[in-house]
Amino acid sequence: MNRHAKKLQKKAKKVTILNKVATQSGILWTVKSPSGSEYDIFEHADGSGFSCTCEWAKYHDTRKSACSHVLGLIRAIKAEKGKATSFWFDAEDAKRQHRATFGVGDIIATTRTA
Ligand SMILES: [Zn+2]
Repeated sequence: MNRHAKKLQKKAKKVTILNKVATQSGILWTVKSPSGSEYDIFEHADGSGFSCTCEWAKYHDTRKSACSHVLGLIRAIKAEKGKATSFWFDAEDAKRQHRATFGVGDIIATTRTA
């Protein structure tokens, strides 16, 4: 596994948050991708991650292997808080950024003040 971080940055789609509904088991987000498609993404309250409703999510557990919409949503949520987010596959690459990090399944996210 040696996927380039740059590719991953592209993988995170720039999504627009259309709706947010808080439930007992988590938050249901509705996002719109640049292509105009809308997806429902469920953020589990247990902290296990995000489940998307796209094609990729039918065959992958997006809590472990995030799709472009989940990454885009995370970026959009952080952007609302004034943070810019980058994604990395390699722990060493992430560490080199000297930023706050958190895990998104097998991906490492770093944030900085935008
Ligand atoms: Zn998706």
